[in-house]
Amino acid sequence: MADCVFCKIVAKQIPASVVYEDEYTLAFMDLGQVNPGHVLVALKAHAENVYALDDAQAAAVFRSVARVSRAIRAAFAPQGLSVYQANGKAAGQTVFHLHVHLVPRFEGDGMNLSWPVKNPPREKLEEHAAKLRLHFQGE
Ligand SMILES: [Zn+2]
Repeated sequence: MADCVFCKIVAKQIPASVVYEDEYTLAFMDLGQVNPGHVLVALKAHAENVYALDDAQAAAVFRSVARVSRAIRAAFAPQGLSVYQANGKAAGQTVFHLHVHLVPRFEGDGMNLSWPVKNPPREKLEEHAAKLRLHFQGE
């Protein structure tokens, strides 16, 4: 989809702090941070929502979610991690390209993390992304 911001990130037309990439998915830290270490895992192909995934894509998305979650745990040592995927306008989505939010939770976070999100400077995102990329160098 030509005007999809996620498709532009996947195509490297928009710079992003990429954490992990494989055949099916791209994980990056841009488009806002609820907490430090917050990563979005997106399918490389344009798929509007979870209903649009075939089994191979679904498996690939969750594999990336698990891999990146382990990296977040190793790099940021959060108390917990929340995984969010929301579909459609009713869920408050403004981007209609399937993506999963991995949000580290730290002591003092309430049940409801505050959205909208903060947008740290790119240097901070790159510093955090580099910490996560380190985790994948040995794999
Ligand atoms: Zn897209």
